[in-house]
Amino acid sequence: MEKLNINENFVSRIWENPSYYDNLKTTDGRNVAVIKLGKRNYDSGPDYKNAKINIHGVIYTGDIEIHRKLEDWKAHGHKRDGKYNKVILQVSMWDDDGDLPVAKKSRKIPTIILSKFLTSSVHSIWKDIINNPSDKFKLPCYPEGMEVESSLKNSWMEELSIERLRYKTLRLKNRLDDLSRHDKERPKWEQMLFEYICEALGYSKNKDQFLKLTRKIDVNKVKRLKLNREGTDTLMYGGAGFLKELRYKDEYISILKNNWGLLKKKFNIDPLDKSEWHFFRLRPPNFPTVRLAYASSLLYSIANEDLFKKIVLSFENEDKPVEKLFDLLSSIEVSDYWKSHYNFGKPRKTVKEDAIGKDRLNDIITNVILPVLYLYCKRYSKQELEYRILSAYFFTKKPSRNEITRVMENQLGFRIKTISQEQGMIQLHNFYCVKGKCTKCKIGKEVFKDETLYEPLKIILY
Ligand code: SF4
Repeated sequence: MEKLNINENFVSRIWENPSYYDNLKTTDGRNVAVIKLGKRNYDSGPDYKNAKINIHGVIYTGDIEIHRKLEDWKAHGHKRDGKYNKVILQVSMWDDDGDLPVAKKSRKIPTIILSKFLTSSVHSIWKDIINNPSDKFKLPCYPEGMEVESSLKNSWMEELSIERLRYKTLRLKNRLDDLSRHDKERPKWEQMLFEYICEALGYSKNKDQFLKLTRKIDVNKVKRLKLNREGTDTLMYGGAGFLKELRYKDEYISILKNNWGLLKKKFNIDPLDKSEWHFFRLRPPNFPTVRLAYASSLLYSIANEDLFKKIVLSFENEDKPVEKLFDLLSSIEVSDYWKSHYNFGKPRKTVKEDAIGKDRLNDIITNVILPVLYLYCKRYSKQELEYRILSAYFFTKKPSRNEITRVMENQLGFRIKTISQEQGMIQLHNFYCVKGKCTKCKIGKEVFKDETLYEPLKIILY
């Protein structure tokens, strides 16, 4: 498991949200049920006071201490500190060579290695948390950062936005190279476009599942076999695992089930398990079943209607390319069944023509299509096209609607107006603020120029 360098505040945020973990066990294999998480303590002493837990049938009341690693108990000197005498549980994110904790009078403290019981990857939980900061989220440079010259903030945001575009492009380039390693002359742009638009369709809860699924589906084979809309629906829902043990029956379901046996063999697909898809806390229009309907239509459009070429042409020929792109993506229609259903066998009250919301389409344009096109220009040295793409990036208006960038705007005194400024702000947050790199930040260099001690400034509360 990748050991993200997350701090104790992040571990606490994970601990406070029981949907991030289940089936907790101590290091010696006893079941743990949390009855009361306890009250967060921001002063010295254990991190949570007056918690209540059940360990293997025995109820304990006392304090909980959170650590990144096992060795922290010893390193922080808790054994000799009387404030830790009432600790009933240590929660350590990672396992390491450190000793299990011992309090005064050699009392052994039960310990959970939290990373072993997470319900999804640490990375996706980390993303979820940074996208949903608590009201304690505060930038170390606040409020002084608000006074920094706006011209400096503007140029810094521009620099960061390019850094972000390159960062995104690099990820795409690596995938494109990987996809095309057997035939370098014919890079698989359409496959890459399909995979990453679908990843964006999954938003935070189902993006890994979408990526896993679309990597099993060969766009060129869909082209060769000239699959119709029912064929692409079958491929998406069958590959996603939704056609297995489906309780409902209707005409559409029967067609998909009949098609699936043959397509499964032709594409040699090992389907996902449908339990991998998350519906919990999602509004029905965002259910993965609804998003898969759009993914299927997208696949059809890429394979049969030259969508990739149309996207490139919209930048080469149009005066308002982003508007054209928006029209192109919003004109992709899902099958009739999914205009009137949120899930198999579950009709909606009203028929809905728009398969996907305006905000999601704008995010797809920003996060997938512009970086794909930027990579395309770089690969083929298309300077005129590159200029048009960068103009769209820098001048297309886009107010911030993401919670994290709104908090950043307020704490930095900087109003986001364009796509690039929004991207620059996200880059600043994810790669500088969260990582405590205030010394590398141009705002930080102004705010902290007289400070000699940076370490305390690196604390960012979530
Ligand atoms: S990285 Fe920059 S913007 Fe972020 S907290 Fe530090 S000084 Fe402020």
